[in-house]
Amino acid sequence: MNAHIRWGLVGASDVAETRMLPAFRAAGHRVVGVCSGSAERAEAYASAHDLELGTDSLEQLLAADIDAVYISSRNGEHAAQARTAAAAGKHVLCEKPLATTLQDAQDVVDACDTATVVLAVNHHLPGSGTHRLVRELVSSGAIGHPLSAAIRHAVLLPERLRGWRLSDDPGAGVILDITVHDASVLNPLMGVPAREVSALSVRQGPWQAASEDAAMVSIRYDHMLAQSHDAFTSAYTPTRLEVHGEEGSITAHGVMTQDPVGRVYLTDKRGDREIEVHDRRGLYDIAVTDFASAVQGTGRPAVTGREGLAAYAVAQAALESTRTGRTVAVTQPQG
Ligand code: NDP
Repeated sequence: MNAHIRWGLVGASDVAETRMLPAFRAAGHRVVGVCSGSAERAEAYASAHDLELGTDSLEQLLAADIDAVYISSRNGEHAAQARTAAAAGKHVLCEKPLATTLQDAQDVVDACDTATVVLAVNHHLPGSGTHRLVRELVSSGAIGHPLSAAIRHAVLLPERLRGWRLSDDPGAGVILDITVHDASVLNPLMGVPAREVSALSVRQGPWQAASEDAAMVSIRYDHMLAQSHDAFTSAYTPTRLEVHGEEGSITAHGVMTQDPVGRVYLTDKRGDREIEVHDRRGLYDIAVTDFASAVQGTGRPAVTGREGLAAYAVAQAALESTRTGRTVAVTQPQG
């Protein structure tokens, strides 16, 4: 039995409209209201989506009859809003990246601990049926000791999203948008903390972005290596996750996506074979269901606040590496 959460939306965003509102409603939850930087926009969004409240005051939203907030504002706003919601005793489902500085990200985790509210970061990939299957294969020893992993997550940024992501905003750029998702996948897959990161980035799109729109990132996990290729600029590149071990390799095609699609293959001394994916639930449905279980005390979020912090720390190290030209040690989350 899932908790029936009453939600407040922080951010009148595209992802709330296209992914999360449908997922909340499909789970039987109620979305009470929305808070935006503009009262006019908040009211229009509330009216378009049949919400009781549209306001430009976070305090007013937090004073409404809600249990939890879903924060999907621009990246630089997440941390302060999450801390304010936690202080008001609301559970927090926060979009990635958790923050745009490591101190802010750690402070959000600590604030939610202090307030004893659930904090989850809405990385949609690790909870999906395909990614869980890949982790199960690795942990069951199907490929022996893992040696390396690789992610191709180069996509074409949809036209409607070519706003702040391409600006010089501190939360802009492909690393805080996509590389951080890759880290949310790689960290639990490799099973030990990411130690250091070396990354290169470019601005290659026709839109002349003010931030990086393509990046290649290498990460060391103790004696294992991982790499990712992330881009806003690549229309025809299939996405992929590979894990290579001493006794086999896993290749998951088409799994770095928002939809419950993709196929998983295992190669070992017996040859190549497809491994059936049993869980084809929607990725955001899983995130909502797991969050509700955590609120009810019967389960854990698909990605906890600490896991979101660890993913952000990898992305932050990648950003610093692109700016300094150096290999950067990953700051380990505290607590
Ligand atoms: P949007 O650009 O749609 O929304 C972000 C903010 O921009 C909104 O909160 C809103 O501010 C403002 N805004 C949006 N549209 C307009 C407009 N027409 N006019 C004026 N202001 C506008 O961003 P996304 O939905 O793409 O992303 C929001 C967050 O969600 C980000 O943190 C992103 O990283 C994350 N995300 C996560 C995904 C996932 O799969 N986990 C997928 C996509 C995004 P205000 O609320 O103040 O009105």
